[in-house]
Amino acid sequence: MTNSTVYDRLGVPTVINAHTTATRLSGGIMRPEVAEAMREATQWTVDMATLQGRACEIIAGHTGAEAGYVTAGAAAALLLGTAACVTGLDPARMNRLPDTAGMRNEVIVPRSHRNFYDHAVRAAGVTLVEVGLSDRYAGAGVRDTEAWEIAAAITERTAAVLYVAGHDARPPLPAVVAAAHAAGVPVLVDAAAQLPPAANLRRFIAEGADLVCFSGGKAIGGPQASGILCGRRDLVMAAALQHLDQDIHWELWNPPPALFDKARLPGLPQHGIGRTAKVGKEAVVGLLTALDLFVAEGDDTRTARWTAQMQTLAAALAGLAGATATLVGRSRRTIVPTVHLTLDEDALGLTALEVVRRLQDGEPSVHANASRVDDGIVVFSPVALRPGDEHRIADRVRSVLRAASER
Ligand SMILES: *Cc1c(COP(=O)(O)O)cnc(C)c1O
Repeated sequence: MTNSTVYDRLGVPTVINAHTTATRLSGGIMRPEVAEAMREATQWTVDMATLQGRACEIIAGHTGAEAGYVTAGAAAALLLGTAACVTGLDPARMNRLPDTAGMRNEVIVPRSHRNFYDHAVRAAGVTLVEVGLSDRYAGAGVRDTEAWEIAAAITERTAAVLYVAGHDARPPLPAVVAAAHAAGVPVLVDAAAQLPPAANLRRFIAEGADLVCFSGGKAIGGPQASGILCGRRDLVMAAALQHLDQDIHWELWNPPPALFDKARLPGLPQHGIGRTAKVGKEAVVGLLTALDLFVAEGDDTRTARWTAQMQTLAAALAGLAGATATLVGRSRRTIVPTVHLTLDEDALGLTALEVVRRLQDGEPSVHANASRVDDGIVVFSPVALRPGDEHRIADRVRSVLRAASER
């Protein structure tokens, strides 16, 4: 049984994840160095504030932000960041969340940025105020929400402006920042899936965002349930105060100066709204280790590694009847190379969606990306693959298509 894995022992089949680091598919494959650092972390105890204080410095170094913090995911970072914008450094307000009566408790968001991850923002006790109409998405026009509309929507109840970063996001972040800052309102950026390119670690902070959220379990390769909140020192401090266990006498509280300025506080909240998204020492260590490796590898090396795997997959899929495999390299949308398998659905008598289903329901289960099935395309991504998975995927695709043509 030397080759048995923990999943064999549990009786849970593993899957080949050519979709991406989706949470429902358990994210991606952690580097051994990260797993080893996490194992090592579990063998000692530390003061969690001190550990997060060091994380603050390391994340600040990688992002250019004043401060940073390790969260239980980008969604957790959105919750903590929103809470920080609502409470500021007032511990009485922190203790009252998610009851925000009497506080600034509205968050403005361009309507086209609404998505179900904003549950995390609303969970802090705020109401989202949608601004603008996206004519371009409706196909009725070319415009989307504009920065002046955000400026016009800001009131004394506005706690923050939420901005969901993406290659196609409108209005441009710097214009949103200018509108918000003119009214003294912070901008919270959801950049969960905006890595790579690694330059995006710095980009949104450089463009003036007050807080930026990244997922640690996506391309960074950290623990699946980890993330980063970075930005303004006072806001990160307010987030940390609502997240760390502060069940300690004021006199005994000796926090790391990188993260906390005790002189600015009248007292401490105890367990804040962030407690449901607690982060363990091993997750902090894992995220920091993965972040260092992600930056050290660099986009060029990473893209070359992914491209080699996708080239092998495309070559292994060449010559199939009724299907053409194409290596799709860097585009304006992403720098992650993928393989697009374009199907002649009529000739095969099989839709792309059905191919995705058969790959998923087969043995081993291969999860492809179904985002282009309406165009007859099955997409394979390298980000969450193990070495050698490209051959297993090709075998499965061949057998699914062969079964179709022999029917
Ligand atoms: C993935 C994602 C999140 C959630 O990130 P987690 O780290 O899984 O919590 C939030 N927002 C967007 C836009 C995402 O793509």
